[in-house]
Amino acid sequence: MAERIPAALEEKFRKRLAFYQDIGIELFYRDRLPRRNASITEEITLPKSVQKTEPVKLTRTAPQPAPKIDSLPAVPVVSLFDSVIKIAGDSLPRILGDIGECTRCKLHRGRTKLVFGDGNPKADLVFVGEGPGRDEDAQGLPFVGRAGKLLTQMIEAMGLQRQDVYICNVVKCRPPENRTPEKDEVETCSPFLLRQLDAISPKVIVCLGSVATQTLLETNRGISHFRGQWLEFRGRKLMATYHPAYLLRNPSAKGEVWKDLQKVMAELGLQGKKGLPAASGKPADSGKSS
Ligand code: URA
Repeated sequence: MAERIPAALEEKFRKRLAFYQDIGIELFYRDRLPRRNASITEEITLPKSVQKTEPVKLTRTAPQPAPKIDSLPAVPVVSLFDSVIKIAGDSLPRILGDIGECTRCKLHRGRTKLVFGDGNPKADLVFVGEGPGRDEDAQGLPFVGRAGKLLTQMIEAMGLQRQDVYICNVVKCRPPENRTPEKDEVETCSPFLLRQLDAISPKVIVCLGSVATQTLLETNRGISHFRGQWLEFRGRKLMATYHPAYLLRNPSAKGEVWKDLQKVMAELGLQGKKGLPAASGKPADSGKSS
């Protein structure tokens, strides 16, 4: 007979399920016991109390290594990133619809426009920034301010146009005074970023700055530990590099970023724009850098 879990834990679990459903995840698969070759096991249907709509079909990607523990806890502690939340047939419009007029975290209070993302929904290359600034909040588009102009120049130096790539952020609403997004804000918003990345399915993800890097790699370590090396994120290649806003303050770091972007170009078979000083160690001058 199924063991009864403590009421407090059940309540916590119920709230967590409600949260998942709120962000568009409605079906879960349980493979809590380490099993060889198990990919999909038992289907768990949400309790009626947290079901609002028809369940969506989820498919599992690569099986996750199961923890080696003798006695397993009664309730799964699911990490948003480890629980495979690939939604079959997910799409950017659907994710945008699920975000809706979001009030899930406190950032919504200062929002003018939610900044979902912009660009080619089938891009091979996705840039992930931190969160909207003043210009982005006003226009509802990512990277349209000073840092955005530099990002556009970096993209063009790679031989691409902005519309060839997809650009988005970890958080979709502007943090007050452009402060760094807080942990709860990142935790609330990043599942949507994950869904965007899965829906676009790019060959390469470039994380711009620490927040994007730390969020996707689930680490507190600084960007200097990761910058310039190929990393992996859910089966995709990930390159972490400095944020364009950092480059505006530290133009001498452009050479390092250009080296990182050249690795991305080699991976994607891109030739750098003709006439740009690709060999000089930096992309075209931003014209904005101090
Ligand atoms: N900085 C970011 O991280 N994202 C934007 O969209 C703009 C500036």
